Amino acid sequence: MSLDPNAALVLFSGGQDSATCLAWALDRFGRVETLGFDYGQRHRIELAVRAPLRQAISAAFPAWAAKLGEDHVLDLAVLGQISNTALTSDAAIAMQANGLPNTFVPGRNLLFFTFAAALAYRRGIKHIVTGVCETDYSGYPDCRDDTVKAMQLALNLGMDTRFVLHTPLMWIDKAQTWSLAAGLGGEALVEIIRTGSHSCYNGTRATLHEWGHGCATCPACALRAQGWRGFVEQTGGYSCLE
Ligand code: ZN
Repeated sequence: MSLDPNAALVLFSGGQDSATCLAWALDRFGRVETLGFDYGQRHRIELAVRAPLRQAISAAFPAWAAKLGEDHVLDLAVLGQISNTALTSDAAIAMQANGLPNTFVPGRNLLFFTFAAALAYRRGIKHIVTGVCETDYSGYPDCRDDTVKAMQLALNLGMDTRFVLHTPLMWIDKAQTWSLAAGLGGEALVEIIRTGSHSCYNGTRATLHEWGHGCATCPACALRAQGWRGFVEQTGGYSCLE
């Protein structure tokens, strides 16, 4: 199986992190495809923002538009059937005794990587890009660097191939993720991600806060708001781009 070393598949959920990763990949690779998963997530609205985000990035960055290829959405409804979590049901979001929020969906990212690799195999894509991060995150063990490295090894052994799993956000915090977006695409990209991406676990997009749309109270909104404040404090926000 020959994989195109100039092609990348981005795990693109529609959130801030994966939107930044999409820009990161478009900046580096000659052909970039995107992949989303429908797993019965309570914030299914994130799936609806994916196409408009891709269109906004294409419209603002013609050089990237030429590289942006197919979008794929895989149905992983089975994940919702086997998981009893706040991310796949109406249960209230809370911390569990094991220190993990009940939004943790066991096996989710392991399955995502596996399906992404199976798709990349079929599409002849060598590079797989994901926005997982263990800097300021919810503690999900399947977002950690060691997990991703182990998955890369397992996938390459199991498919007898040589994928490279990229995690450009692994060692930076949410404020630095905004700075990364600013470095890649300036204020135009920051503004597209701020207004167009979706992070809120409750699926709320009624209000546009300075850090984006959301309920402002769930853990995902709290993390996103904190990151935006850090970005503004550390860099002056948009003034750093002038
Ligand atoms: Zn929220």
